[in-house]
Amino acid sequence: MKFATCLNCMDSRAQLPVIHWVKENCGVDYVDMITEAGMDGILADEHYKDVDSLLKKIDISLEKHNSSIIFVVGHHDCGGSPVDDETHKKQIRIAVEKVKSWKPSCLYNWIMGLK
Ligand SMILES: [Zn+2]
Repeated sequence: MKFATCLNCMDSRAQLPVIHWVKENCGVDYVDMITEAGMDGILADEHYKDVDSLLKKIDISLEKHNSSIIFVVGHHDCGGSPVDDETHKKQIRIAVEKVKSWKPSCLYNWIMGLK
């Protein structure tokens, strides 16, 4: 059983499409979904402080499920991070760099979806 880890929005529209895409494109069987409203915007916020709670969830996925690939997801029409698509892409890039600084040995990918 192979797992991937996904830092995603809580928006229900961004769950099944992301799970299916990751499973089909990354050869994994399961996708651990860690969600917040507007995850990309939260991670890109330089004042974001709740790192411990997020890291705890990431660690469970990496250590208990041996995941070694982390996805950061943003999506069009996001209620939690109501910015245009270009800003989402910038936030996703910043978010990936931030998570990479916490977990440098993982592979990273990102998804900007739902248009
Ligand atoms: Zn959203």
